[in-house]
Amino acid sequence: MALCKTLAITLKRSDYSDTSQIVSFYTLDYGRIHVLAKGSKRYKKKFTSVLDLLTYNEIVFIKRDITRLYTLTEWELIDNFPGLRENLDKFYLASYVAELVGEFTEENDRNEKLFELLLNALRGISLSAGIPAMSVYLLTFEMQMLKLAGYLPEMIRCVNCENELQLKRYVSFSASKGGVLCEKCQNQSQERIAVLPGAITAASYLANCDFQRVARLRIQPSLYADIRRMLKYYISFILNKELRMWKYIS
Ligand SMILES: [Zn+2]
Repeated sequence: MALCKTLAITLKRSDYSDTSQIVSFYTLDYGRIHVLAKGSKRYKKKFTSVLDLLTYNEIVFIKRDITRLYTLTEWELIDNFPGLRENLDKFYLASYVAELVGEFTEENDRNEKLFELLLNALRGISLSAGIPAMSVYLLTFEMQMLKLAGYLPEMIRCVNCENELQLKRYVSFSASKGGVLCEKCQNQSQERIAVLPGAITAASYLANCDFQRVARLRIQPSLYADIRRMLKYYISFILNKELRMWKYIS
């Protein structure tokens, strides 16, 4: 048995019993964990903040070797990202970010860079001034999360022959091949979509850019829509399912 203290972002919660709930956190030191909040349904006021979704807290929990469900003992709110509470579009985007973290991580698999990326994305979306700005934060998060999870698609060279791509009217992108295909090789994959070359260039840039620069970036609506379409196609192929939040975001 060990008493553990860490920084944690609330991803999800679900009922456990008539009085208690299970909270899913993404933490700095332990990756994604599930924690039992005993009495949280009975003493709602006491548990505010840590049970509010998409909040940043310092938590203390008891870790036992026999179970992966830990017990929450203390918590303190650091930031509740007020912008997310005041704007439904922001809340939906941030909820999608949390859903992605839940889908692309294993339990108890620590990844400090992903924690930092998640924190930056929630801060950025919360503080952004409008839909174009929050969209860039979302795309940057998606591309950099795919990179950290080892799923970054190849966007510069043809995945089949490795020749550098000629960016013409459209580029073929294949989820099963894991990236772009040149004109010669595209017919080798039945499963592919056509994407605007600008969308490939922008997505590739966002995958590697410094998060501090994102606030100043804007993406044309047509390119944003095309990257969105490409990522939905690619992510649904990787996870073999549709994500719950897709119907709430454009
Ligand atoms: Zn090729």
